[in-house]
Amino acid sequence: MALIRRQFLSRAALATSALGAPVFANAQSARFNWKMTSAYGKGSPFYMDGPGSATDLAKRIREMSDGRLNIQVFGAGELIPAFEGFDAVRAGTVEMNHANSYFWTGKTFAAQYFTAVPFGLNFQGMNGWLYDGGGQELWNEVYAPFGMVAMPCGNTGVQMTGWFKKEIKSVADFKGLKMRIPGLAGKVYANLGVDVKVLPGGEIFPALERGVIDAAEFVGPFQDRRLGLQKAAKFYYTTGWHESSTVSELLINKAAWDKLPKDLQAIVSNAAAACNVISEGWCQKANSEAMEDLVKNQGVTARPLPDDVIKALRAETEKVLAEAVKDPLTKKVHDSYFAFKAKYDRWSEISEEAYHLKVRG
Ligand code: CA
Repeated sequence: MALIRRQFLSRAALATSALGAPVFANAQSARFNWKMTSAYGKGSPFYMDGPGSATDLAKRIREMSDGRLNIQVFGAGELIPAFEGFDAVRAGTVEMNHANSYFWTGKTFAAQYFTAVPFGLNFQGMNGWLYDGGGQELWNEVYAPFGMVAMPCGNTGVQMTGWFKKEIKSVADFKGLKMRIPGLAGKVYANLGVDVKVLPGGEIFPALERGVIDAAEFVGPFQDRRLGLQKAAKFYYTTGWHESSTVSELLINKAAWDKLPKDLQAIVSNAAAACNVISEGWCQKANSEAMEDLVKNQGVTARPLPDDVIKALRAETEKVLAEAVKDPLTKKVHDSYFAFKAKYDRWSEISEEAYHLKVRG
């Protein structure tokens, strides 16, 4: 044993002097310094700071890997502008980006389905599809031509329709409105006469306050209150038709991913899954408190959209989806998503929904 140990140590020492590498350098001791950008500003709760956020994800990965995978996190605008994460990860300028896949629908339309589909799955259903219903595999398939992989790493739960300066009584009231709304829901509104704007979170309040836009959606009570949207528009519509749960995306350069040893890959996947659950739990707590404050203390009128408006939004969503599935890859993802949803809806109706409507009280 002593001889083997001496030989091993002398070989290791040789490796050090020849290459300047750390002693015992191998796949299990190699260190990786990565960069992760975000579509959200430094300090943004949920996205950048707090339980399950980008910085929390990096911390968990650093701690679990004992510093072998060290990820430096940059908010929007620190390294690159908010919506350039896709190109930066694709080019390998950064190894990771933390945002939502629906910002990339201009690159590949099917990306929309991995964030939220209007009238789509809730948090539980989305997890069912992504983790066990084929969603994760399709996500990687969609990004394969770009040399990237992705996984869920956060979820806001149900989002709010958003803030309007004027009351919405019928679908005709959408005509001519300038509204901040990303994703597929933006296309639906556009078909109903809305002038759609996609602004990063930090630009929403000034635009709404100055009348550059007449309406805006962001996330939910906590995030919206933090931006001050309640000071710029008083009508808060609650119906979460457009984002029934919104997945945060961890986007990874595949060449960089393939260089990670298996244990570090497992650490990243497990930390992302932890953040997916933990961030959603935080949203439930933060939103229930913030909604109460907005209504009780800040003069906000919070109400669901009228039924006729929801019906019109649903009909328009169906038209937009029918158009979207003309693209074969979008159709493949769409069919998987909606086949899962049909089964999930039947099960949810007699389990979760029945509990909420008939049992909880
Ligand atoms: Ca949103």
